[in-house]
Amino acid sequence: MTIAQNSLDLIGNTPLVLLKGPSEATGCEIWGKCEYANPGGSVKDRAALYIVRDAEANGSLRPGGTIVEGTAGNTGIGLALVANALGYKTIIVMPDNQSAEKMATIRALGAELVLVPPAPFANPGHFVHTSRRIAEETDNAIWANQFDNIANRKSHIFGTAEEIWAQMDGRIDGFTCAAGTGGTIAGTGLGLKARDEKITIALTDPHGAGLYNYYQCGELKPEGTSVAEGIGQNRITANLEGAPIDTQFRISDAEGLAVVRQLLDEEGLCLGLSSGINVAGAMALARQLGPGKRIATILCDSGFRYLSTLYNPEWLASKGLAETEAAA
Ligand code: PMP
Repeated sequence: MTIAQNSLDLIGNTPLVLLKGPSEATGCEIWGKCEYANPGGSVKDRAALYIVRDAEANGSLRPGGTIVEGTAGNTGIGLALVANALGYKTIIVMPDNQSAEKMATIRALGAELVLVPPAPFANPGHFVHTSRRIAEETDNAIWANQFDNIANRKSHIFGTAEEIWAQMDGRIDGFTCAAGTGGTIAGTGLGLKARDEKITIALTDPHGAGLYNYYQCGELKPEGTSVAEGIGQNRITANLEGAPIDTQFRISDAEGLAVVRQLLDEEGLCLGLSSGINVAGAMALARQLGPGKRIATILCDSGFRYLSTLYNPEWLASKGLAETEAAA
């Protein structure tokens, strides 16, 4: 049994689960890192804690200070609970098309929530630029800057990667996940490569993101669209710089949703769409590496965060992702 001396010690050290259906379908072992089991319910608790501890250590975050961040939601939830545990305030800026559950959670944690319309990164109204401006205008505030602050990926180099290595007894052939900030793929990739450079690191990219083409042919060129929250990047963030990507896959929402539904129906795992896309990517990697290999991926957050969207047939139909289509 795990005993924690304080709530922040509950972040990380998540379980690893063997995914039966995806393993049987590919003849490989496909393992999911249960990041939804973090206290804030997602992989982003790790980056939130590391960024806050780093800002305390370098003196930029002082007692009574405010943490400001732009986020698809999960980093905001992680930062708000870390801030509560350490006595800071939080202001979270989020695009208004993200799930209502994430917005309600951020408000419930006592953070100030600022909603902005979705905009391209080049637009000054983009949630990242808005959060930077608010941090500059607020007394005793820091901007967490998860996209370009490499404290984010360090949480995965020293946390996620080391945990997966230990949990798999050093017998791991491949790792894959999608990128939002890129902290998880770059950090876990760097950490695993440091243990064994033969481990294949694969980027799983959703539609609407430019990284697949970047790693394929050097050009940041998005194709298609995706409703997946928290992933889909069109620039090389500081966290992605030097990421050891050996191979890449592009996975559609329909493919990711089919996996989400299968894991729910057959294994009782209720996950968000980025997890489904990651597992579909792990299956693509399994097919590329061949039978008998051991592959790990990230189960980023829980489906309970998306009851009003992914698990709502009317919403799915409104996005052209009716259940029958997803299952096909
Ligand atoms: N899935 C979800 C649901 C997320 O919120 C995020 C974080 N934006 C990711 C995946 C991607 O993680 P990272 O930022 O480390 O690339």
